[in-house]
Amino acid sequence: MKAQGEIMRVPLLDLQKNLAPMRDDIVAAVTGVIDSSRYILGPRVEEFEQKVAAYSGAGFGVGVSSGTDALLVALMALGIGPGDMVATTPYSFFATMGSILRVGARPCFIDIEPGGFNIDTVKLAEVLADCAERERIKAIMPVHLYGQCADMNAVMALAGRYGIAVIEDAAQAIGAVCPVESGDEVSWLRAGTMGDAGCFSFFPSKNLGGIGDGGMVVTDDDELARLMRQMRMHGETSRYHHAFVGGNFRLDPVQAAVLSVKLDYLESWHTARRANADLYDRLFVEAGLVDAALVVPPPRVYAHTAQKEDPAGVNNHIFNQYVIRVRNRDQLARFLTENEIGCAIYYPLTLPRQECVAGLGYDDFSFPEAQRAAEETLALPIYPELGNAAQQYVVEKIVAFYRDNGLL
Ligand SMILES: *Cc1c(COP(=O)(O)O)cnc(C)c1O
Repeated sequence: MKAQGEIMRVPLLDLQKNLAPMRDDIVAAVTGVIDSSRYILGPRVEEFEQKVAAYSGAGFGVGVSSGTDALLVALMALGIGPGDMVATTPYSFFATMGSILRVGARPCFIDIEPGGFNIDTVKLAEVLADCAERERIKAIMPVHLYGQCADMNAVMALAGRYGIAVIEDAAQAIGAVCPVESGDEVSWLRAGTMGDAGCFSFFPSKNLGGIGDGGMVVTDDDELARLMRQMRMHGETSRYHHAFVGGNFRLDPVQAAVLSVKLDYLESWHTARRANADLYDRLFVEAGLVDAALVVPPPRVYAHTAQKEDPAGVNNHIFNQYVIRVRNRDQLARFLTENEIGCAIYYPLTLPRQECVAGLGYDDFSFPEAQRAAEETLALPIYPELGNAAQQYVVEKIVAFYRDNGLL
């Protein structure tokens, strides 16, 4: 135990600690690639594609160069381009919007749920029913932000009604489960497997992170999988014959080999992150921060559906990030940083307010919930190896901040 008043350094992430138990296996995997001379695609990429598809419960996996390129390849293979619109959230990492713009389409932003972080499907239904440009909306791109799925029951029902595609941005949610209803039955399906295509990122800070960039698209549609494989190889139909313009979007075998080792640990990381989240939740309540409305712990939308007897539902939130809403966010972030506690603001600027879309006529004030999230949220360290003492220290410092400011 740390003595009272002792100083502790708590990073937002500790990738070396994460790597330590499997470091030898990872070095061996990389050496295996070096010695194989198979440096583009090949058996290691195929093996990892099959592993991710099996883990997620999808038919096919297509390894690509990043999460961004996963979104891009899915959009391209679904034929979305100039003149089309994609309904999506204004509150996400830039790549969600960037991929849509990159294929020449336009995002149609739908605000997030009040108090939540994912797309508001009530508003989505309204826009699809009323919007003058409805005919142009060719796809929905929900984002499973911070590791908790968007309301996919509603998204899939709307997509079915209007005959439009669904591309899940599951970059932060590999392994997260969502309760999907059919009749009276609820089955827990993994992120990425509910829409036409699901996109993962293996950016090093994601729950399953490589030692560089990487990504994957999963799908049950063999024709779509085939098209995406062509897209990642310059639209090649046979060697040096190109039916369409794709790109070089291939997953590197070095990353595939490393990620294949790490995938075996992913469930244990989910368990550890969830335990850390439970502890933070409890510590915030015990410290009086929740009652004082200074800290709002992350919403757990599906926790009530996840029965204790039903182990299939435990990963209803995988806490890729643990994001709280707080009073005096910017001052608190500065205070924590000064005290060597890692924290981050995801995301300080909503997508419609980004400079690169300034000319596209998005109304600054149309997305009040996204705007509020951009002003109130703060991500705290949640990585699996964090440890209880560090969490207690983080909460003590947050208490100290509000006491010093006369709010607690
Ligand atoms: C990380 C991320 C991406 C992009 O992934 P990269 O691998 O960094 O290209 C896309 N969408 C969301 C929501 C992300 O968090």
